[in-house]
Amino acid sequence: MANLAISNVCNLNCPYCFAAAYMSQTIGTARPFITIEAFTQRLDFLERSHISQVRLIGGEPTLHPQFTTLVQLARQRGFTVLVFTHGLVRARPLTCLTTLSPDDCMVLVNMNATRSGSVPDAAETAQREAVIRQLGSRALLGFNIYRPQFNLEPLLALIQKANCHPAIRLGLAQPILDGANVYLHPKQYPAVGRQLAQFARRAAADGVRLEFDCGFVRCMFSDEELALLQEAGADVAWRCNPILDISLDERAIHCFPLTGRVETAVAAQDAPTLRQQLIVQTQVYRRAGIYRECSFCPHKRQGTPPGACTGGCLAQTMRRFRHQNLRFVLPAPTVGQGCQPALLGEIR
Ligand code: SF4
Ligand code: SF4
Repeated sequence: MANLAISNVCNLNCPYCFAAAYMSQTIGTARPFITIEAFTQRLDFLERSHISQVRLIGGEPTLHPQFTTLVQLARQRGFTVLVFTHGLVRARPLTCLTTLSPDDCMVLVNMNATRSGSVPDAAETAQREAVIRQLGSRALLGFNIYRPQFNLEPLLALIQKANCHPAIRLGLAQPILDGANVYLHPKQYPAVGRQLAQFARRAAADGVRLEFDCGFVRCMFSDEELALLQEAGADVAWRCNPILDISLDERAIHCFPLTGRVETAVAAQDAPTLRQQLIVQTQVYRRAGIYRECSFCPHKRQGTPPGACTGGCLAQTMRRFRHQNLRFVLPAPTVGQGCQPALLGEIR
């Protein structure tokens, strides 16, 4: 997997936006949209990486003035297309997407994107729903959780009404490492976990599956809540790995929250090689996690999926330490536990 940034601009203003730092890096310094030549090189990169799906991100990718041409180029070379959008899509790119078969095209629509810096207003919701009705089964609804109170019920109703793909993609809003976006504090995770477990049962009754994006952690759910999620068929996972966001200026970034901190040049390399380079860059931080307890947590040290936990979002972890006094100590190994370093910096 790799995400291709094709637009560095967006016409909305979501409070939790984690691409803001990435986009602001290029304001006034670079072309805001990918060129056809550079996009062709990105397709070459995907091919040599044996990746069959083109994942288009921004900013807002559908603002690219040649969006239709880019999609056609990808389809001509046999790629399937996944578009990440705020959902307020203009007529031309929408027509382009609706002419593709649902087997070849999926559109992940962020349901709580907004101009207002708060929640979507009635006009935005109406416009987004009209777009989703046209996309039909190509539409996969997504929702970013950035505060402990949220309501996913309207998404269930819309999935039925518009015959969307029967799943909801859930994101936990994560902090930009050096930014000021609104994000969910790890102390708020258990409250979110309780709501999601209840909602998963409700969604399953409608034939809708919950899918977790990166940054979810094991301990935000009790054993009972985890059992409820699994019974409901939710795609439960504790991910934090470099999917690779490929920027307009050809950097492979671990993910947008780590822009400028964990990245490498694409050059002539393939995705597995780039991913490995980014994993090496993050290794030292992986020993810790979003909570002090992570360094000593059995889920992190011993577990196997779906029990094993990554320790949560690396951007959260790195913010927690803010690079102060990182020193490592090796405790005496315990039989069966290996020898995991503990971060002295946590004992503060
Ligand atoms: S590793 Fe950290 S975040 Fe994960 S379950 Fe353990 S304490 Fe929770
Ligand atoms: S650091 Fe990990 S969890 Fe956080 S946004 Fe990046 S990939 Fe997701």
